[in-house]
Amino acid sequence: MTITAYDECLQSGHIPQDAANPRLQHLCGRCGRLREPDEMQRDVDQERRWTADAATFAQYVADADRAAAALSAFRERRMGDGPWRDVSQRSWRTEALEEVADLSAYLLAAMTALAQQNRDDEDADRDRMLLFMALSASVTAFDALRAVEQEEL
Ligand SMILES: [Zn+2]
Repeated sequence: MTITAYDECLQSGHIPQDAANPRLQHLCGRCGRLREPDEMQRDVDQERRWTADAATFAQYVADADRAAAALSAFRERRMGDGPWRDVSQRSWRTEALEEVADLSAYLLAAMTALAQQNRDDEDADRDRMLLFMALSASVTAFDALRAVEQEEL
């Protein structure tokens, strides 16, 4: 059995306490140990359902069920089904906002690379359209996330 920071607090004779400083809520107020568990369990089935629900509202998606299933499968291959870690130190909304900015940057790089090829064939037209659709989705995501961030202020 693993001894957690919580156990160490008990062994040293105190119950872990809230830190007075709200920025240090992930640390024990008595001894400064990291409070365990600092993680959030995931419900992968719920994640799939939310993704499927969201896909029905997505623009330019012909087959929402198929697109949602493909995104969920790709996400789960990348991150598995383990818990989120270091929860107290992260803002999910800020992370999402930053990733959306990165998404737009990668798409613009792909569009620039395509433009520099000076192609005038149907495949290039199709790629330009698909990259533009993805860039459009990044604008939608950014605008929604910015609205959420402003709600928090
Ligand atoms: Zn402690």
